[in-house]
Amino acid sequence: MRLRNIPAAAPAVEASDLCIKDAASHKGHWNEIFGNDHPIRIEIGMGKGRFIMDLAARNPDINYLGMERYESVLYRGLQKLEENPLPNLRLLCEDATLLPDFFEKGELDRIYLNFSDPWPKDRHAKRRLTSRQFLERYDKVLKGDGQIEFTRDLHHDTAMNEGNIMTEYEEKFSSRGNPICKLITSRNIPL
Ligand code: SAH
Repeated sequence: MRLRNIPAAAPAVEASDLCIKDAASHKGHWNEIFGNDHPIRIEIGMGKGRFIMDLAARNPDINYLGMERYESVLYRGLQKLEENPLPNLRLLCEDATLLPDFFEKGELDRIYLNFSDPWPKDRHAKRRLTSRQFLERYDKVLKGDGQIEFTRDLHHDTAMNEGNIMTEYEEKFSSRGNPICKLITSRNIPL
């Protein structure tokens, strides 16, 4: 996401109850934040947050966290959420490298990655949210079960596209004629 510094962003993120600040202190008891035992799913790199907000609105019985490391980007989503708060959604202005500091093993039910920064250079490969290093971090926080699904042209696959929620980047790339690919994966080992 192209970054323009917004001076109002940092104070707004700091002041908002919808943004969790002391993430590490909630490790092992995130359900207390939501006041129920519903599963918790996170989007890493939520950008301006349309996807996670639509998803949370559609699924009130699942809890969601939207993580974005840049305040100026997260701020756009926060403004929308402040207008329309959802009891099952909170935001985190954090870097995903810290995930194992924030969550116990099995505490997260699902991780969404949408249009993650590509980091095309080899020397930056470990920064990709799909890198081995990040998969190891996900392994430390995710529940055991799941599935793998993959499609190369999501918008033209009726079954996979059913109920699809478009992200901002998805709309941008799709309108340029790029096919959208989707992968759902897991290690499939119950914890
Ligand atoms: N998911 C949104 C935005 C995609 S752009 C959409 O589909 O429209 C990728 C976003 O991921 C950027 O905003 C970037 O700041 C964020 N990001 C990249 N690496 C991250 C990390 N390690 N931790 C948290 N956010 C990250």
